[in-house]
Amino acid sequence: MIQHTLRDNPFPVDLSFPPGQNTVMVGFLIWDFDGTLGCREGLWSSALLTVLEARGGHPGFDAQRLRAELRAGFPWHTPEAPHAQLSSPELWWEALSPVFVRAFEAGGLDPTTSRTLASRVREVYTDPNYWRLFDDTLSALQMLSSRGWTHLVLSNHVPEVARIIDALGLGDHVERVFNSADSGHEKPHPLAFENLLEALDRPGKIWMIGDNPEADIRGAEAAGIPAILVRGRPDGAKRHCRDLFGVADIVGQA
Ligand SMILES: [Mg+2]
Repeated sequence: MIQHTLRDNPFPVDLSFPPGQNTVMVGFLIWDFDGTLGCREGLWSSALLTVLEARGGHPGFDAQRLRAELRAGFPWHTPEAPHAQLSSPELWWEALSPVFVRAFEAGGLDPTTSRTLASRVREVYTDPNYWRLFDDTLSALQMLSSRGWTHLVLSNHVPEVARIIDALGLGDHVERVFNSADSGHEKPHPLAFENLLEALDRPGKIWMIGDNPEADIRGAEAAGIPAILVRGRPDGAKRHCRDLFGVADIVGQA
């Protein structure tokens, strides 16, 4: 029945369809957030450099060395290691502080200044003004909602990701955000997916959608959840689409 509905309503979608008036619950779409629904321009290095610029910069600062230091040390770089001990946002950011200090020092700052600037990264990184949704995100989610899908987010992220998602206007479209900073399990750890499945309070079809072939796609499939790689290259994935509108074709045919 859903297949017929999709075929009878080809793109472009009529966005006047009011969300929340579904009569049939088809199932759950689990979305990755960062790189899938939205993004932060410049990522972590940009946030640290913004903090440095706000202090007035530093002559000869080596941004390349700062960037190199940021390629390790985050919880999602070691998904095999659960981190239940980082049980509050403060503990989570405290654990990241040495990574930021090392990055500032690698760029050329002294230890004291590096520690001072590291303490300001949280505020800048989580400022919603630096984040944006991709152009197709809201339209695609609205369209899929109108076809009976419930949206969830499963993210490897900072503790504040739900607030960022809400500030970007997705709060009314996403029923619940599951975040590694809360659960202590980073995708593709099996428990990241299993805990989400256990939390679902009603039956339905289920799909994972994300831009990371390892964390999102292979992680979900290992947990028995069919997955769709979006954006970027197909990268050998069973299912891939370049934008989020393509998701409707795939889940509608299943
Ligand atoms: Mg991602």
